[in-house]
Amino acid sequence: MVDMENLLVMATAWTGLLASNDLVIPDTKNTHNEQIIYSTDLFRKPNKRKIALQKRLLAKKIKKQIQRNVDKVLVFAPHPDDEELCCGLTLTEKIKQGSTVKIVFVTNGDAKSFDFDISKSYGRLRKSESIKSAIHMGIPIRNLIFLNFPDGYLDKLDMTTPITSSYTGENVTHFSSYFPGRLYTKKALKSSIREILIKEKPHTIYFPDPQLDKHPDHAAVGQIVMDIITEDGLKLDTQAYQIHGTKKVAALSLPNRLKLELIKFFPSQFHSPEYKKFMEHFASLPEVFKGSSPNSQ
Ligand SMILES: [Zn+2]
Repeated sequence: MVDMENLLVMATAWTGLLASNDLVIPDTKNTHNEQIIYSTDLFRKPNKRKIALQKRLLAKKIKKQIQRNVDKVLVFAPHPDDEELCCGLTLTEKIKQGSTVKIVFVTNGDAKSFDFDISKSYGRLRKSESIKSAIHMGIPIRNLIFLNFPDGYLDKLDMTTPITSSYTGENVTHFSSYFPGRLYTKKALKSSIREILIKEKPHTIYFPDPQLDKHPDHAAVGQIVMDIITEDGLKLDTQAYQIHGTKKVAALSLPNRLKLELIKFFPSQFHSPEYKKFMEHFASLPEVFKGSSPNSQ
């Protein structure tokens, strides 16, 4: 997972800099035409022992990172909360190991009401819940990417003709989006996802399984991600998850406490006893993925 070559290049450059803070000035009065080396730190000569120690410490740090299997992770969540339901514990563990985790929220989850203001306000609430939960996991806000494509419409997007959301009245991404002003088309959504994959260069992605996940938004995101991977020949670990639809996994004997804690960051989803039960049920399910690694392809 760690790019060993890059880390070693960085280590060499860093230790090299420590030794290159000296100025080499020709001494014109010196009859032997010798050069005199002045340290930029006038009172200290380069300390070889200190540099050697720093080199050893850096090598130790790199070794530790490799042992801890540091990863660069990107999660695709069609709606705010999917990232917790699919992978909250997995992501928490990755962060503990020192991995970088970024989350792409494709919609704000604002398919609430035909009153535009109610829906938009609901979308903002769901965004804020995901932000709080991410911070709880140790994911900084700068690692959260909100695209603001239309909730409930991802499987209905036309390739080039923009669709208008009946929940928000919008047909273009909001100015607060990571990509503001993009039309609600499949073409724009696909190129947004592709641009993020190119920019972030993740080692591992978590995304909805286009075959197993029965929510139309989830299946649509999963299919677009798969299409890009195939078309661009991307080499990365793909971990497909399923949230909606019948699951073939045995429930845990007890709900996981941390997962329950994470789910409680989403009170907007406890709008009915049934849905609250649906959400909390995830604390009793193991996080399983249909994985594929470039090494096994
Ligand atoms: Zn969802």
